[in-house]
Amino acid sequence: MKSYMQPAEHHAAVQRALHLGRSGEAAALPELVELLRLPSNEVQRLAASAIGKLAGFGADSVAAVAALAPLAREARHPQTQQYAIRALKAYGAAGLAHVHDLRDVARNPAQRDYVRAAAKTTADAIEQAAQDAAADVRHRCQRCNAPITADEYARSQQAFQRRFCDRCFDEVFLERRNFETQVELSKTVEARDGTVVQSEGERRIAELAGGARRGVPLRRQVPDHCGVPDTARLLPA
Ligand SMILES: [Zn+2]
Repeated sequence: MKSYMQPAEHHAAVQRALHLGRSGEAAALPELVELLRLPSNEVQRLAASAIGKLAGFGADSVAAVAALAPLAREARHPQTQQYAIRALKAYGAAGLAHVHDLRDVARNPAQRDYVRAAAKTTADAIEQAAQDAAADVRHRCQRCNAPITADEYARSQQAFQRRFCDRCFDEVFLERRNFETQVELSKTVEARDGTVVQSEGERRIAELAGGARRGVPLRRQVPDHCGVPDTARLLPA
Protein backbone atom coordinates (compact mmCIF):
# COMPACT_ATOMS: atom_id res chain seq x y z
CA MET A 1 0.00 0.00 0.00
CA LYS A 2 1.51 3.29 -1.10
CA SER A 3 1.77 5.83 1.64
CA TYR A 4 3.56 9.12 2.00
CA MET A 5 3.29 9.00 5.76
CA GLN A 6 5.92 8.00 8.29
CA PRO A 7 5.35 4.38 9.39
CA ALA A 8 4.58 5.29 13.03
CA GLU A 9 2.20 8.05 12.00
CA HIS A 10 0.58 5.77 9.45
CA HIS A 11 0.14 3.00 12.00
CA ALA A 12 -1.43 5.39 14.52
CA ALA A 13 -3.87 6.72 11.91
CA VAL A 14 -4.87 3.19 10.87
CA GLN A 15 -5.52 2.20 14.48
CA ARG A 16 -7.44 5.41 15.12
CA ALA A 17 -9.70 4.90 12.09
CA LEU A 18 -10.40 1.30 13.16
CA HIS A 19 -11.12 2.37 16.71
CA LEU A 20 -13.46 5.19 15.73
CA GLY A 21 -15.34 2.91 13.33
CA ARG A 22 -15.99 0.45 16.14
CA SER A 23 -16.81 3.14 18.69
CA GLY A 24 -20.39 3.72 17.60
CA GLU A 25 -19.81 7.39 18.49
CA ALA A 26 -21.55 9.78 16.11
CA ALA A 27 -19.30 12.52 17.51
CA ALA A 28 -16.26 10.80 15.95
CA LEU A 29 -17.33 11.92 12.48
CA PRO A 30 -15.24 15.15 12.24
CA GLU A 31 -12.07 13.29 13.18
CA LEU A 32 -12.80 10.62 10.58
CA VAL A 33 -13.35 13.33 7.97
CA GLU A 34 -9.86 14.62 8.86
CA LEU A 35 -8.42 11.10 8.51
CA LEU A 36 -9.94 10.91 5.01
CA ARG A 37 -7.56 13.68 3.98
CA LEU A 38 -4.37 11.87 4.96
CA PRO A 39 -2.10 10.74 2.13
CA SER A 40 -2.58 7.01 2.68
CA ASN A 41 -4.96 4.85 0.72
CA GLU A 42 -5.30 2.47 3.63
CA VAL A 43 -6.22 5.22 6.08
CA GLN A 44 -8.67 6.71 3.60
CA ARG A 45 -10.31 3.36 3.05
CA LEU A 46 -10.66 2.63 6.75
CA ALA A 47 -11.92 6.14 7.50
CA ALA A 48 -14.54 5.90 4.73
CA SER A 49 -15.68 2.53 6.03
CA ALA A 50 -15.84 3.89 9.59
CA ILE A 51 -17.96 6.85 8.47
CA GLY A 52 -20.39 4.38 6.92
CA LYS A 53 -20.58 2.43 10.18
CA LEU A 54 -21.49 5.56 12.13
CA ALA A 55 -24.61 6.10 9.98
CA GLY A 56 -26.50 3.70 12.24
CA PHE A 57 -25.47 5.70 15.29
CA GLY A 58 -26.89 9.02 14.20
CA ALA A 59 -23.82 10.62 12.63
CA ASP A 60 -24.53 13.92 10.84
CA SER A 61 -25.63 12.68 7.42
CA VAL A 62 -25.04 16.01 5.64
CA ALA A 63 -21.43 16.21 6.82
CA ALA A 64 -20.82 12.51 6.15
CA VAL A 65 -22.22 12.67 2.61
CA ALA A 66 -20.24 15.85 1.88
CA ALA A 67 -17.03 14.07 2.90
CA LEU A 68 -17.74 10.81 1.08
CA ALA A 69 -19.22 12.06 -2.19
CA PRO A 70 -15.98 13.44 -3.73
CA LEU A 71 -14.19 10.13 -3.04
CA ALA A 72 -17.14 8.17 -4.39
CA ARG A 73 -16.69 10.12 -7.64
CA GLU A 74 -12.92 9.89 -7.82
CA ALA A 75 -10.21 8.58 -5.51
CA ARG A 76 -6.48 7.91 -5.78
CA HIS A 77 -7.13 4.20 -5.38
CA PRO A 78 -10.18 2.32 -6.76
CA GLN A 79 -10.64 0.49 -3.46
CA THR A 80 -10.93 3.80 -1.63
CA GLN A 81 -13.57 4.82 -4.14
CA GLN A 82 -15.41 1.54 -3.60
CA TYR A 83 -15.37 2.00 0.18
CA ALA A 84 -16.60 5.58 -0.08
CA ILE A 85 -19.42 4.46 -2.37
CA ARG A 86 -20.43 1.71 0.05
CA ALA A 87 -20.32 4.09 2.99
CA LEU A 88 -22.53 6.52 1.09
CA LYS A 89 -25.15 3.80 0.82
CA ALA A 90 -25.46 3.73 4.60
CA TYR A 91 -26.68 7.35 4.56
CA GLY A 92 -29.57 6.48 2.25
CA ALA A 93 -31.68 9.36 1.01
CA ALA A 94 -29.16 11.93 2.29
CA GLY A 95 -27.04 11.03 -0.74
CA LEU A 96 -29.78 11.73 -3.29
CA ALA A 97 -27.93 14.68 -4.86
CA HIS A 98 -25.10 12.30 -5.83
CA VAL A 99 -27.12 9.63 -7.61
CA HIS A 100 -26.27 11.10 -11.03
CA ASP A 101 -22.56 10.95 -10.28
CA LEU A 102 -22.92 7.37 -9.07
CA ARG A 103 -24.77 6.42 -12.26
CA ASP A 104 -21.92 7.97 -14.27
CA VAL A 105 -19.39 5.87 -12.34
CA ALA A 106 -21.55 2.76 -12.83
CA ARG A 107 -21.63 3.13 -16.61
CA ASN A 108 -18.01 4.22 -17.07
CA PRO A 109 -15.98 1.38 -18.69
CA ALA A 110 -12.72 2.98 -17.46
CA GLN A 111 -13.73 2.20 -13.87
CA ARG A 112 -13.00 -1.12 -12.20
CA ASP A 113 -15.90 -3.57 -12.30
CA TYR A 114 -16.19 -3.69 -8.52
CA VAL A 115 -16.37 0.10 -8.35
CA ARG A 116 -19.06 0.18 -11.04
CA ALA A 117 -21.05 -2.55 -9.29
CA ALA A 118 -20.85 -0.72 -5.95
CA ALA A 119 -21.93 2.55 -7.60
CA LYS A 120 -24.98 0.90 -9.13
CA THR A 121 -25.95 -0.78 -5.86
CA THR A 122 -25.59 2.45 -3.91
CA ALA A 123 -27.46 4.55 -6.50
CA ASP A 124 -30.33 2.03 -6.44
CA ALA A 125 -30.37 1.97 -2.64
CA ILE A 126 -30.36 5.76 -2.35
CA GLU A 127 -33.26 6.08 -4.79
CA GLN A 128 -35.17 3.38 -2.93
CA ALA A 129 -34.50 5.10 0.38
CA ALA A 130 -35.68 8.43 -1.04
CA GLN A 131 -38.89 6.83 -2.35
CA ASP A 132 -39.47 5.11 0.98
CA ALA A 133 -38.96 8.35 2.87
CA ALA A 134 -41.48 10.07 0.59
CA ALA A 135 -44.01 7.25 1.06
CA ASP A 136 -43.25 6.99 4.79
CA VAL A 137 -42.12 3.38 4.39
CA ARG A 138 -39.77 2.56 7.23
CA HIS A 139 -39.11 -1.12 6.67
CA ARG A 140 -39.16 -3.67 3.88
CA CYS A 141 -39.60 -7.44 3.99
CA GLN A 142 -36.17 -9.03 3.74
CA ARG A 143 -37.64 -11.98 1.85
CA CYS A 144 -39.75 -10.30 -0.87
CA ASN A 145 -38.85 -6.62 -0.39
CA ALA A 146 -42.48 -5.51 0.01
CA PRO A 147 -43.03 -2.52 2.31
CA ILE A 148 -44.11 -3.70 5.77
CA THR A 149 -46.19 -2.04 8.43
CA ALA A 150 -45.01 -1.30 11.95
CA ASP A 151 -47.14 -4.25 13.16
CA GLU A 152 -45.56 -6.65 10.68
CA TYR A 153 -42.15 -5.39 11.66
CA ALA A 154 -42.79 -5.89 15.38
CA ARG A 155 -44.33 -9.34 14.92
CA SER A 156 -41.58 -10.77 12.73
CA GLN A 157 -38.85 -9.24 14.87
CA GLN A 158 -40.33 -10.83 17.94
CA ALA A 159 -40.78 -14.28 16.41
CA PHE A 160 -37.78 -14.55 14.11
CA GLN A 161 -35.56 -11.54 14.76
CA ARG A 162 -36.17 -10.81 11.07
CA ARG A 163 -38.21 -8.36 8.98
CA PHE A 164 -41.02 -10.20 7.18
CA CYS A 165 -44.33 -9.15 5.62
CA ASP A 166 -47.31 -11.17 6.94
CA ARG A 167 -47.30 -13.46 3.90
CA CYS A 168 -43.62 -14.32 4.26
CA PHE A 169 -44.08 -14.64 8.02
CA ASP A 170 -46.69 -17.36 7.48
CA GLU A 171 -44.57 -19.15 4.88
CA VAL A 172 -41.47 -19.09 7.03
CA PHE A 173 -43.48 -20.21 10.04
CA LEU A 174 -44.89 -23.22 8.14
CA GLU A 175 -41.53 -24.14 6.67
CA ARG A 176 -39.97 -24.15 10.09
CA ARG A 177 -42.84 -26.03 11.72
CA ASN A 178 -42.65 -28.72 9.03
CA PHE A 179 -38.96 -29.01 9.65
CA GLU A 180 -39.43 -29.27 13.41
CA THR A 181 -42.13 -31.92 12.90
CA GLN A 182 -39.84 -34.02 10.73
CA VAL A 183 -37.14 -33.81 13.34
CA GLU A 184 -39.59 -34.82 16.10
CA LEU A 185 -40.92 -37.79 14.10
CA SER A 186 -37.46 -39.00 13.30
CA LYS A 187 -36.15 -38.65 16.81
CA THR A 188 -35.45 -42.13 18.09
CA VAL A 189 -33.29 -41.94 21.14
CA GLU A 190 -33.98 -40.14 24.40
CA ALA A 191 -31.64 -40.29 27.34
CA ARG A 192 -33.11 -41.15 30.75
CA ASP A 193 -32.85 -37.56 31.91
CA GLY A 194 -34.87 -36.42 28.90
CA THR A 195 -32.05 -34.79 27.01
CA VAL A 196 -31.52 -35.90 23.47
CA VAL A 197 -28.44 -37.97 22.88
CA GLN A 198 -26.43 -38.20 19.73
CA SER A 199 -27.45 -41.33 17.81
CA GLU A 200 -26.48 -42.55 14.39
CA GLY A 201 -30.02 -41.87 13.13
CA GLU A 202 -30.07 -38.41 14.57
CA ARG A 203 -26.75 -37.59 13.05
CA ARG A 204 -28.12 -38.60 9.63
CA ILE A 205 -31.24 -36.48 10.12
CA ALA A 206 -29.13 -33.53 11.03
CA GLU A 207 -27.03 -34.03 7.95
CA LEU A 208 -30.06 -34.44 5.70
CA ALA A 209 -31.69 -31.39 7.21
CA GLY A 210 -28.53 -29.40 6.85
CA GLY A 211 -28.19 -30.34 3.20
CA ALA A 212 -31.84 -29.88 2.28
CA ARG A 213 -32.32 -26.62 4.07
CA ARG A 214 -29.05 -24.85 3.58
CA GLY A 215 -29.58 -21.12 3.71
CA VAL A 216 -32.34 -21.31 6.30
CA PRO A 217 -31.09 -20.05 9.65
CA LEU A 218 -31.80 -23.33 11.40
CA ARG A 219 -30.21 -22.40 14.67
CA ARG A 220 -32.55 -19.49 15.17
CA GLN A 221 -34.76 -20.37 18.10
CA VAL A 222 -38.47 -19.74 17.77
CA PRO A 223 -40.06 -18.47 20.98
CA ASP A 224 -42.38 -20.82 22.86
CA HIS A 225 -45.46 -18.73 22.27
CA CYS A 226 -45.32 -19.70 18.59
CA GLY A 227 -46.05 -23.29 19.59
CA VAL A 228 -42.88 -24.61 18.02
CA PRO A 229 -40.60 -26.70 20.19
CA ASP A 230 -37.06 -25.57 20.63
CA THR A 231 -34.95 -28.10 18.79
CA ALA A 232 -31.90 -25.95 18.41
CA ARG A 233 -29.94 -28.56 20.35
CA LEU A 234 -30.81 -31.12 17.62
CA LEU A 235 -29.41 -29.08 14.82
CA PRO A 236 -26.04 -29.58 13.23
CA ALA A 237 -23.29 -27.61 14.86
ZN1 LIG B 1 -42.40 -10.72 2.22
